[in-house]
Amino acid sequence: MNQPKLDLSPKVSDEIRKTTCYMCACRCGINVHMKDGKVAYIEGNRDHPVNKGVLCAKGSAGIMQVNAPSRLRAPLKRVGPRGSGEFEEISWDEALGIATNWLEPIRKDDPSKLAFFTGRDQSQSFTSFWAQNFGTPNYAAHGGFCSVNMAAAGIYTMGGAFWEFGQPDWDHTKLFMLFGVAEDHDSNPIKMGIGKIKARGARVIGVNPIRTGYNAVADDWVGITPGTDGLFILSMVHCLMKAGKIDVNYLAQYTNAPCFVNGDEKSSEFGLLLRDDDGKELVMDRTTGKLTPFDQKGVKPDLAATHRHAGITHNTVMHHMADRYLSDDYAPEAVAERVGISAQRIRTLAAEIARVAFDEAFELEQEWTDFRGQTHKTMQGRPVSFHSMRGISAHANGFQTCRALHVLQILLGSVEVPGGFRFKPPYPKPATAHPKPHCKVTPGAPLDGPHLGFTHGPDDLALREDGTPARIDKAFSWDNPMSSHGLMHMVISNAYAGDPYKIDTLFMYMANMSWNSSMNTRGVIDMLTDTDENGDYVIPRIIYSDAYSSEMVAYADLILPDTTYLERHDCISLLDRPICEADAAADAIRWPVIEPDRDVRGFQSVLCDLGARLNLPGFTNEDGSQKYDDYADYIVNHERKPGIGPLAGWRMGENGTQSGRGAANESQLENYIENGGFFVEHIPQGANYYKPWNADYQDWAVGMGLYDSPQPYLFSLYVEPMRRFQLAAEGHGDRQPPDHLRDRIKATMDPLPIWYDPAAENRADEFPITALTQRPMAMYHSWGSQNAWLRQLHGHNPLYVPTKLMRENGLQDGDWARVTSPHGAITVPVLEMAALNENTVWTWNAIGKRKGAWALDENAPEATRGFLLNHLIHELLPPKGDGLRWANSDPITGQAAWFDLKVRIEKTDPPTESQPAMDPVKSPVGRGPKDLTWKVGK
Ligand code: SF4
Repeated sequence: MNQPKLDLSPKVSDEIRKTTCYMCACRCGINVHMKDGKVAYIEGNRDHPVNKGVLCAKGSAGIMQVNAPSRLRAPLKRVGPRGSGEFEEISWDEALGIATNWLEPIRKDDPSKLAFFTGRDQSQSFTSFWAQNFGTPNYAAHGGFCSVNMAAAGIYTMGGAFWEFGQPDWDHTKLFMLFGVAEDHDSNPIKMGIGKIKARGARVIGVNPIRTGYNAVADDWVGITPGTDGLFILSMVHCLMKAGKIDVNYLAQYTNAPCFVNGDEKSSEFGLLLRDDDGKELVMDRTTGKLTPFDQKGVKPDLAATHRHAGITHNTVMHHMADRYLSDDYAPEAVAERVGISAQRIRTLAAEIARVAFDEAFELEQEWTDFRGQTHKTMQGRPVSFHSMRGISAHANGFQTCRALHVLQILLGSVEVPGGFRFKPPYPKPATAHPKPHCKVTPGAPLDGPHLGFTHGPDDLALREDGTPARIDKAFSWDNPMSSHGLMHMVISNAYAGDPYKIDTLFMYMANMSWNSSMNTRGVIDMLTDTDENGDYVIPRIIYSDAYSSEMVAYADLILPDTTYLERHDCISLLDRPICEADAAADAIRWPVIEPDRDVRGFQSVLCDLGARLNLPGFTNEDGSQKYDDYADYIVNHERKPGIGPLAGWRMGENGTQSGRGAANESQLENYIENGGFFVEHIPQGANYYKPWNADYQDWAVGMGLYDSPQPYLFSLYVEPMRRFQLAAEGHGDRQPPDHLRDRIKATMDPLPIWYDPAAENRADEFPITALTQRPMAMYHSWGSQNAWLRQLHGHNPLYVPTKLMRENGLQDGDWARVTSPHGAITVPVLEMAALNENTVWTWNAIGKRKGAWALDENAPEATRGFLLNHLIHELLPPKGDGLRWANSDPITGQAAWFDLKVRIEKTDPPTESQPAMDPVKSPVGRGPKDLTWKVGK
């Protein structure tokens, strides 16, 4: 037979280098196949705890990211006007000299004149350490415009939230409910989890106005009205409480449900929890009938007790919850119209959750001992789990909505139990175990502590002596007292307005603030380019670091070009947002699997250099020399506390390497590389559930350096710090809010979850349709938008319009519509989508590009048919006639309320391209070639 000779197993690479993906924030392990020193292809690492070999479209397209024509090539100094894109390439010495000359005098004089904000980086424990050493109070990352409501509500309620904080018990859950999750946050792990539970016959319910991604593979899709998730959840809470389908044993033992709320209306502590002299919450012990601190050995807290003292009756949190949620206000019939889900369906969903949680409950034969010293023979499984993300949190009621979801989980007893939701180390970690915000500025010296943290009452606010906000973004002020991640989206507008004060230098990293990361894109561009009466820019200096020629580059004065993720060191640290699993602590690194072919440097290494030039104590040796040669040196040798460094694996002990605590080990990075780029330490059997209360877990966590001592705590169905802010608004205490905020604080900072209409001020009569965005699965995190492979999937974005609105407006696929909000208008192509809430339109976010950015052709579909909804959104709400402009954000955390956008649409003649079409910027990297082809290897 004359058969062709086929090589069925061609040699694809000379070498495999194992590192961590950064095409999105999931941090999967990847095997980078090298041929002739170049990246030949990328596959998933089968041994990696996060993805177990699974690789998504983005991950494999990383090869086009490291070859993208849009990569910046050298430091740049602006030579044309801001926004022109005219730069000249300069040396690193000159660039760092300029930065030092700008920053040194600020630090000596007033460090708060520097605003240092980072976007989607994964090194926040490092960048915050740098900013703290500089001494500015003005530091945060992008959480304020992303999902701080989710993170903060989770930590205040139960010591952790979804995604990086925890995960469903994929091995045991039988009902998985998603709220407001697109295909992102998170990606591979959720896909793998859904695959796993579906193979077992478990049910998936997706609650989302848009049926795409995970909602498209859900068994049930609930096309809720945007912004009403909290009301829907509290209605299900009503049904469950009414039916008695709550886990009273769990509530009594592990939550503050049996704690007493001070009922003395005349007291300055009215509404706070009763505590003993040591500050411990008091419960009524069912055995003794006496008031007892909650954590005493053998105590059996009574949910239904009352405590009468001095003629005053104090009731438990459970009592207050029953009063509120059993009210007919939360009955399905009362909420159905507003949430867009029939009363019958709400009841059916609540009944299904209850059936699975209680009728399909099971026990694991695993003994464990709780913090009260009681040993339990088994672990009680409640196989219902939830996951949620930006969809419910990016509203002005997002914090309370996220709280409501956590309360629902807790009422079911399905947190940290088999089948339910489980924390990933270093979580659980209650708000009380996190730092408080710090803002004390001393010229020439570091800040007095970490910038970000958790407030527990007015005393923790970041205010100046005159009561004005201490931070440029007004985080931790009366405007948004619990803004744990800062408010990056307000920095430019506040700096421009000089409110609360002027700054000198805006220093940003990986944050596309002149494009898709800002509300009011046109307005922000104007703020960045506007000059004062002397002809000087209102924001005097802007330094920006990015790996790519993004839209923001044109608006900076000095560009510090970053590397791509395959050319750098990184650590995905337990001090930050690690890659842990519910059963294990884990962290990971990136390392340069290829060397940059351009004059670029990893941003964190640049900060090590700049920190030394500025004599920052954390970056300078006693003799004045540079402390860390680069970021790799910092990763290995920095100690946050004695024996605790950025990486937990392969630290030095007395008898060789050890995990968690230990001295620095010069071979640590090599150890990681040999192990595939990651480190895992499994939690011992029996310690891996009930983590907040499990004595064995607490001891293990102390050994790993996650805690300094065991710190069991109660879940907070009732978030007492919120009541402290209300008390201040009612006139108690020395620190008082401004009068115009009193009513809002009283109304919104309820210690038990409430629902209010997040878009009540948005003129719903004129603008009746909600407009949303999502990131597509292939481009979760927008830095992949110019990727040559991924662009073929999403080169432009239509506005998806539900069938009803298509018919009402006489629209057909391919027509164009004018979309108008109270703030502006855009003209865009439309496409019909049936599986969509009938009063909602949506599009993919960040596909539209500015002409000249990202090295794309000016006629690229991203620039001609792509568009942003950002033009329709403003950081301030429309005027409501009280002389004030209120922020378009959550009043508790300040999270940007992206998804409260209301619009109207009308058919229009097709323009030549999407509107508004902005003038092109000059590309500092030129334009990419028409064809981009190369062959790796012979
Ligand atoms: S899910 Fe994210 S981290 Fe994982 S392979 Fe895909 S892009 Fe990379």
